[in-house]
Amino acid sequence: MTSHSQVKLKPGDTIGILGGGQLGRMLAMAAARLGLRCQVFSPDPDSPAFDVVANASCAEYADVEALELFANDVDVITYEFENVPAAAALVLSARRPVLPERKILETTQDRLAEKDFVTRLGIGTAAYADVTSAASLRQAVARIGLPAVIKTRRFGYDGKGQAIIRKHDEIDRIWEELGTKSAILEAFVPFEREISVIAARSADGQVECFDVTENEHRDHILKVSRAPAAIPESLAAEAREIAGKIADALSYVGVLAVEMFVLPHAAGPKVLVNEIAPRVHNSGHWTLDGASISQFEQHIRAIAGWQLGKPVRHGEVTMTNLIGDEIATYPEWLAVPGATVHIYGKGTPRPGRKMGHVTQVLPKSA
Ligand code: AMP
Repeated sequence: MTSHSQVKLKPGDTIGILGGGQLGRMLAMAAARLGLRCQVFSPDPDSPAFDVVANASCAEYADVEALELFANDVDVITYEFENVPAAAALVLSARRPVLPERKILETTQDRLAEKDFVTRLGIGTAAYADVTSAASLRQAVARIGLPAVIKTRRFGYDGKGQAIIRKHDEIDRIWEELGTKSAILEAFVPFEREISVIAARSADGQVECFDVTENEHRDHILKVSRAPAAIPESLAAEAREIAGKIADALSYVGVLAVEMFVLPHAAGPKVLVNEIAPRVHNSGHWTLDGASISQFEQHIRAIAGWQLGKPVRHGEVTMTNLIGDEIATYPEWLAVPGATVHIYGKGTPRPGRKMGHVTQVLPKSA
């Protein structure tokens, strides 16, 4: 097996992508622009990423033979979602370099391990506690107070697997409804705004952060991202430093996103880390049209062993997600001057499903 520091792809080489959603699709399109091929592995025959690559592996993540055949076909392997099963990552990393490295998933797949890791780096998070039973939840509430947010340790996304506890008499019901024995309780953060930093790190330790993005959620799903975030430069610098510190501590190779809360009128730290996503991220989609180099290209460059770019933002950028039935509005967006429309090619627009996005750039000179 080659170690990640030895990966040096040439145009014509092939990247294996685990996961066939819109992130995999946009990674493959960025790779194509650099003359690199991609092969996508996904159990879903309707994967949007299959449409943009010549070779697809449609099989379950537990199918060891299919994983081995896939690994044999590619030069390096990456992923577009953080819940890659540990066993699949093990099979693949025995054959080809997997970037970002497999051990990073152990930290980022588990909210408790992730919070402990961030805390060890001396970076602020909401107060949190390990919760394994209704009794330990009551103890945690006694320590942390209410309101608080209970989250399953694993497999939570877009607000799934979490609930806000506001009153003591809700504790038992919410614990029952969560249906897990493995959760964390977090203090509810009365944030002023939510921001994220998309950072790229190369195998030789070069770190490049995009401008800090400000994010608005609707029903727990990202709706709008704006870059740059409307925060003082000192705070933006602090946010970028936090992301760089996390990337360095993980010896990370690729793009990661760090989601953060900005506290209002804080006496202590002004920024708290909420979550790390070890992959390209929805809040970085603005970089496709709003910067000289996109998050997708940075990720491809990093895992290919290439020099990272120094991204230059083209102006004030707004990215709007088209969620569920909103995709039907695409003809109206096509008519908006300056808007760039992205449609992911997914089948049915279910509620909450990310179907596409639109970017609008107000040029710097305007
Ligand atoms: P997460 O799945 O951890 O990214 O949480 C999804 C969203 O829920 C965040 O983007 C916040 O809007 C909200 N949220 C999560 N944790 C907290 C918290 N501790 N305090 C306040 N809001 C939170």
